[in-house]
Amino acid sequence: MSQRRLSSTVNSLLLAFTLSVVLALTLVFTALYYFIFEGFEESRLEKLAQNIASEMNVIDESERLALMDAQVSADLRYTLIDENGEVVFDSAQSQLNNGEYILKELDNHSNRPEFQGAVREGTAYVIRYSDTLKKDMLYAAVRLDDGAIVRLAEPRESLIAFAARFVVPIVIVILVVAVLVVVFSKLLTKRIMRPLDNMDVTEPLKGEGYSEMSPLLARIDDQRLMLERQNEDLARADSMRRDFSANVSHELKTPLQVIVGYTELMEGGLVSQEDIPKFSRIIHEEAENMRSLIDDVLTLSRLDSGSISASNLKDVDLFILAKQVADRLAPIANKKDVDIRVSGESVFIEGDESLLDEMMSNLITNAIRYNVDNGYVDVIVGERVQPAKEAVVVVRDAGIGMPEDELTKIFERFYRIDKSRSKETGGTGLGLAIVKHAALSHNGQVQVESKLGQGSTFTVTIPIK
Ligand code: ADP
Repeated sequence: MSQRRLSSTVNSLLLAFTLSVVLALTLVFTALYYFIFEGFEESRLEKLAQNIASEMNVIDESERLALMDAQVSADLRYTLIDENGEVVFDSAQSQLNNGEYILKELDNHSNRPEFQGAVREGTAYVIRYSDTLKKDMLYAAVRLDDGAIVRLAEPRESLIAFAARFVVPIVIVILVVAVLVVVFSKLLTKRIMRPLDNMDVTEPLKGEGYSEMSPLLARIDDQRLMLERQNEDLARADSMRRDFSANVSHELKTPLQVIVGYTELMEGGLVSQEDIPKFSRIIHEEAENMRSLIDDVLTLSRLDSGSISASNLKDVDLFILAKQVADRLAPIANKKDVDIRVSGESVFIEGDESLLDEMMSNLITNAIRYNVDNGYVDVIVGERVQPAKEAVVVVRDAGIGMPEDELTKIFERFYRIDKSRSKETGGTGLGLAIVKHAALSHNGQVQVESKLGQGSTFTVTIPIK
């Protein structure tokens, strides 16, 4: 990521903006001021020329020069021209010698525009380059009653020369503005950054902030929540793994201890001949329990390591499968006088047959195991199209049922409601965990409804491709 300082960005933008504004305003106002000033000068010169002319009209011709001298300040050039254009007097071209002016040789002025204008109109005002003085001049000329022309002139200042007067104050203003802008942008940056500095990344949506930042903050918050959830999931998975290993070892220890204990007795000849069948049966049962536990653990670890491999997938008829499982479990059901009834219709799904077999036998075994004498188990297989096209397997029993608040926990590994009954009947506590996992591996799910003493209904749904 290329990084720039916000303060430098703000600073340079603000400086560029302010200086452009200051320069533009200076240019506009200097030009405006120049034109106003020039207009003012023009009318001043014109008025002076007119005043002098009206006074000259009422005095003797010989007193005209003295009047001009008295009326016109030294920085103005004044000229008296007779009606033929001959220069009678010109302040810029005459020299005072012993109280008398000596006029330099000057050409006839009848071709000068201000002269011609004054002859024609009475007064004339002209800005032009003066060949005599080699610069731009303002001329105001007025015709006297006797036809002579009185002319006043002053050098005209160019816009640049006029603006040059303001260079020093403008430079000072710009320096002051630049310093102020630097200070101001520091403060501005601090002010802009405050909500960001104060932001609590663990709770970005709280506290003061800019509405422009909301999308970003929402994203940060989403990420934070996601990380939190992932951490929780990881922690839960980790603790489950640890719990699982501890539980497995614990569950294996009990039958092993029984087996070791009984075989030691038998080895030492401490068991009477008639007790041997009884002891062997116990050892056999415990070994069977160990085997089912190990089978279940293997199945779960196979499921944990990922979804079912494609090579195990094939079209499975759940109805046929249900019948096979029911037949296989019939001897156990008969022992308890429990009747297994399979109904429904053929429904094919693409799946792992041995896993689906295990799923169904776990559900039916539970339904037998947690049943009442002379009870029944209904297995119904079918297909539905609402809310989606899916296969439905319902395993319903009229058994002991479960308290409603336990229903979410029974799918956890090693969770048993009635521990002694589970163990007595060879339960591992992993059956429903495998059922849930198997359903999930087929993109399906399992639901349970149950009431204590009123039986349970497990419903597995698996989407049909
Ligand atoms: P277990 O090997 O103990 O049966 P499961 O994971 O199969 O373990 O079942 C978890 C617990 O749920 C059982 O211990 C039992 O208390 C309860 N349970 C499962 N199925 C039924 C059922 N059909 N009727 C009543 N309780 C059941």
